[in-house]
Amino acid sequence: MRLDKLLANMGFGSRKEVKKLLKEGAIKVNGVPVKDAKQHVEPSQEEVTVYDDKIEYKEFIYLLMNKPQGVISATEDTMHETVVDLLELDDAVFNPFPVGRLDKDTEGLLLLTNDGQLSHHLLAPKKHVPKKYYATIQGIVTEEDIVAFRNGVTLDDGYHTKPGELTILQSGEQSEIELIITEGKFHQVKRMFESVDKKVIFLKRLEMGPLGLGDLEVGEYRELTDEEVEMLK
Ligand code: URA
Repeated sequence: MRLDKLLANMGFGSRKEVKKLLKEGAIKVNGVPVKDAKQHVEPSQEEVTVYDDKIEYKEFIYLLMNKPQGVISATEDTMHETVVDLLELDDAVFNPFPVGRLDKDTEGLLLLTNDGQLSHHLLAPKKHVPKKYYATIQGIVTEEDIVAFRNGVTLDDGYHTKPGELTILQSGEQSEIELIITEGKFHQVKRMFESVDKKVIFLKRLEMGPLGLGDLEVGEYRELTDEEVEMLK
């Protein structure tokens, strides 16, 4: 990999800023100052230092975000703020993208990574990764809804869902529920409630597989630990 690309990927600034570091002699490869941005390095075998600090090369980045409402699960959008716009430049340089989508008005757990293989693996229908949602519902959620979701419901396009585990936290004119599903059809939770004549008025994803939001505030994100990444594989 080209040295300037490696440094830019590692968050050491734009190409221009990296050039400045090289010019200053701040970058060494195996202890030897290097000024040529085009020099090829093998990050797993050669030691690259910036001001004598060894840089730990990583190819992939894995981020867990508590997505706010009003933000689009995409890398670019001409009209609206995207989840990638919320990232610090140091993380954005890795070009992460969201693993699946949450609707613009849905809040909660969203993974972002540049690891296409892991993303593919997590989204594969066969994988059945459980996703747990909290929702506020317009209307009284009943025991019949629990049974209906357990048996799978038929959506507006005729698709019959896999079993969903519905828990009523509070039932009333506005009910509060938790729902675990193992699929990710377009607007699935909203459409499951529509199939039983109820409307989702607030939706938040709380968990995805082994990962939860913990104490991440809305709009915050953190890197996954190596152990967490392993658990996803
Ligand atoms: N189901 C929905 O309806 N919307 C989401 O954002 C996620 C699941």
